Order: sequence, then structure tokens, then C-alpha cells
Amino acid sequence: MGLFDRLVSLTLPIVPKPIVGYFSRRYFAGETADQAFQVARRLLGRNALVTMDILGEFIEELSEADTNTAQYVDLIRMVAREQLPRTNISVKLTALGLQLDKAACLANLRKLMEAIRETDNFLRIDMEDSPCTDGTLELYRILRDEYPGMVGVVLQSRLRRSMADIEALVHPQANYRLCKGIYLEPEEIAFTESTRIRTNFTALLERMIETGAYVGIATHDEQLVDEALELIERHSLPGDRYEFQMLLGVTEGLGQRILDAGHRLRIYVPYGVQWYPYSVRRLRENPQIAGYAFKALFNRK
Ligand SMILES: Cc1cc2nc3c(=O)[nH]c(=O)nc-3n(C[C@H](O)[C@H](O)[C@H](O)COP(=O)(O)OP(=O)(O)OC[C@H]3O[C@@H](n4cnc5c(N)ncnc54)[C@H](O)[C@@H]3O)c2cc1C
Repeated sequence: MGLFDRLVSLTLPIVPKPIVGYFSRRYFAGETADQAFQVARRLLGRNALVTMDILGEFIEELSEADTNTAQYVDLIRMVAREQLPRTNISVKLTALGLQLDKAACLANLRKLMEAIRETDNFLRIDMEDSPCTDGTLELYRILRDEYPGMVGVVLQSRLRRSMADIEALVHPQANYRLCKGIYLEPEEIAFTESTRIRTNFTALLERMIETGAYVGIATHDEQLVDEALELIERHSLPGDRYEFQMLLGVTEGLGQRILDAGHRLRIYVPYGVQWYPYSVRRLRENPQIAGYAFKALFNRK
């Protein structure tokens, strides 16, 4: 990251919300489920698949987790009513109370899973920062046994522990999304060099394939996509054992290349009134756009 990029990243919090909203609009579908369904339909029309996420991970009270749970159950039912084919759901466990009361979070998750079972859908549990890793994997294991084939989790190649996690999670129903990991973690538990995070990504992907898991390969990094394609070929991996995954509004050209080559591609479609923290994370990954937002701060009339 260059000096200007670093400066932009550090000063993003002082950029007013409307300006952040304007420049990050491509990364979230809107504030309402209707807007998200419109985006989903457009993507489905281009042969991509979709996973939908309600933005809102920062909660302080369990009552907020109850509200989020109810919203998710509604979303799962709406996806079935709207007949969006093979559109699944992603959720962050802190939104359901993981850091407040794990047992309450599990109870909330089971409400989601009942709706998932009723509507024949699939739930992907996102992975958050390292204080959440153990709790997230623990609840994933419980649900994997209670709702076989209906739930998956995320592992991050930034974390040193992820290879050991794969070994500990080997199971006929294992289902992962593999990503680099967005949260910056201390060196004792995480790789900090981009080369090492990449090498680990490919090693983890190969191990996931070897252990028979279903893998969502979540990256916009062209080198990693190419290495994944090589692994898929080398292991003669059938098309129903993996998919590529990308975030809404990011590297659409690379996504099209994947679709044109006949692979599955699922787009993560987040929406909701709490779009701000998610947007700041996305802008930090893209200092060029964040830079426009930063400059707009000084160009306001
Ligand atoms: C479907 C999906 C789900 C995810 N779920 C999680 C999760 O549960 N937990 C978690 O910690 N992380 C999650 N992530 C984020 C992930 O960990 C990375 O932080 C993010 O994908 C960037 O890493 P990258 O592999 O794309 O590589 P990068 O090196 O960051 O990006 C590769 C290239 O993609 C382009 N690019 C990347 N980001 C942007 C952007 N915001 N705007 C414009 N261009 C961009 C640039 O051209 C860049 O050079 C998810 C990512 C995806 C795709």
C-alpha cells in the first residue's frame, strides 16, 4: 500500500456517511430486501448464483439479535416465495448474539435452520475476526450434525490455524467457503505477508478438495483463481463439488471469465440499513475508489 493509499485508509472514518455511501453503492444492493431481490434477479439472469446477506453485525443487546433472527427468517421465506433459484443465505454470528450469549446465538441459529429446512435452502456462516473463530466453528459443528447438507462455514487463509481446522472438521458433509480473511490479525496467529496468505490459500484449497469437502473459492485475486482452476483440473473435481464466489461490485470481468469457462460463480449480495461498516471495509480494499471519496471531501461546495 502506498503512502496516499494508507492515508486514505486511515482517514476514511472522517469522510461523511453520504460520501462513503455514494462511492460504495456498487458494493451493496440497497437498504431493502426488494432492492436486493432486484439485484439477485439481474445476476441470476447472467447465470451467476447468489448468496444474500443482511448487513448488521454490531449489536450490543440480545434483543437486537432477536430482531436480526426474525429478519433472517423472513428473508429465507421470501427467497422461497420469490422463487429465486439456488439463492442461499449468508449470516454473521455476531448479528445473532455470538459475543453476548452463545447459547442464545445457537437457539437463534436453529430458528434460521428450521426455515432453511422448510424451504430446502442452505446457510453459509460467515467468519469474523479471531475472537469469534472458536465459537463460530463450535456452532457450525453442532448444526452440521443436526441439519446435514444444509449449512457451511468459512475458513480464512490469513489465519495460521486454518489447516488444523480443516483436519479437525473432516466430515462427509463438510462445506467451506475459503477466503483470505478481511480482518487484520496479530502476527502470532496470522500470516501478514500477502505472498504467504496466498500460498496458504492454495494449500488449504487443495486439502479441502482432498478431504472431500464442498468448496466455495472466494477470491477476486486472479492468480489464486488460476491456481484454483489448475487444482480443479489436476484433481478432476466434478462441477458439483465447488463454486467460485465473489462480492457484489468487485472484479466483474474476472467473474464473467469464470462463468464463460463453465464454472459456477456465486455473488455475495449484501443489503440493509447498516451498510456503512461493510462499505468502509470494501473501500479500504480499494484505495483508488476510497481516494475518490476522500477527494470529494475537499471538493464539496
Ligand atoms: C463471497 C465472499 C465472501 C467473503 N466472506 C468473508 C468472510 O466470511 N470472512 C472474511 O474474513 N472475509 C470474507 N471475504 C473477504 C475476503 O476475505 C477478502 O478480504 C476479500 O475477498 C479480498 O481478498 P481477495 O482474495 O479478493 O484478494 P485481494 O488481493 O484483496 O484482491 C484481488 C483483486 O481484486 C480486486 N478487489 C478486491 N477488493 C476490491 C474492492 N473492494 N473493490 C474493487 N476491487 C477489489 C482488486 O483488483 C484486487 O487487486 C469474502 C470474500 C468473498 C469474495
